Amino acid sequence: CAKVRNDGAVIYDAAQDKSSEQSLSLLTELRHAIERDEFRLFVQPKIALQTGQVVGMEALVRWQHPQRGNVFPDQFIPFAEQTGFIRVLTRWVMERSVQLCQQLEQAGQQLKISVNLSTRDLMDQDLPAKFGEMLQRHGQSPKSFCLEITESAIMDDPVRAQNTLAALSAMGFELSIDDFGTGYSSLAYLKSLPVNELKIDKSFVLNMETDTGDYRIVQSTISLARAMDLRVVAEGIENEKVWSLLAGMDCDQGQGYFMSRPIPAAQMRDWLAGWRP
Ligand code: C2E
Ligand code: CA
Ligand code: CA
Ligand code: CA
Repeated sequence: CAKVRNDGAVIYDAAQDKSSEQSLSLLTELRHAIERDEFRLFVQPKIALQTGQVVGMEALVRWQHPQRGNVFPDQFIPFAEQTGFIRVLTRWVMERSVQLCQQLEQAGQQLKISVNLSTRDLMDQDLPAKFGEMLQRHGQSPKSFCLEITESAIMDDPVRAQNTLAALSAMGFELSIDDFGTGYSSLAYLKSLPVNELKIDKSFVLNMETDTGDYRIVQSTISLARAMDLRVVAEGIENEKVWSLLAGMDCDQGQGYFMSRPIPAAQMRDWLAGWRP
């Protein structure tokens, strides 16, 4: 079958099976998608739950495929991670996010943008320098950005992850632990990493008003965040009841369809103008 090298290059082999042919063509398509500018930056607002104020947004990528239409990240991010293509994509997302931050700043809005990183990005020693160069080019500060990392991405290679994260944190980037509570990991890393924020996974938030187990997990995650002096964010808020429950539990920020679905980055300014807490 075909092998994909670390840098994303594909090594052909005589005996190719059907599925490796398919993944080869997906990798080719992803490469073309960058060249043909088919990726789209979407953003979802982050809201301070006590005041209703917009504090930032999460950058989420979409693929506008010429035949298949809007392709969601679940259908290509895992593959991009396996093949290493994610490193190209992460740089694209960061570049667009820095541009967006600059545009919003010019319009008088100071909002923090959260960008998702994968394991492969944490193994990429050039990443901090690359990010630094992008920021410099657009006159932006790392302090306007938060980098979201999952527990499993850290646990894949904790030592290298720690090095990259320490470098990014020293530059001024904020760090967030994404999908908190879903990974099989020790909590020990929390005290050794320069983390600023915990994000409670939506799987616990979606049904917390009816499921006691979920409710208690949310509650204890908020307590843990408080005890460790970390900001805590809930994702997956789909109704007002969950918002007010979370606000009452002293959760700092939230994201969810109740406030807004992810929207194209170009629509963010209009959305902000229409938002009433
Ligand atoms: P994530 O980082 O946990 O992002 C949150 C996901 O929850 C997003 O899905 C978002 O649209 C969805 N969501 C937000 N609010 C609600 C809600 O109220 N209800 C429900 N049911 N869902 C909600 P999306 O955009 O499809 O992204 C899925 C995953 O793909 C992300 O999960 C992230 O792991 C990955 N991803 C997306 N964009 C990027 C990217 O640029 N880079 C990397 N590395 N991963 C990305
Ligand atoms: Ca995320
Ligand atoms: Ca998440
Ligand atoms: Ca998630």
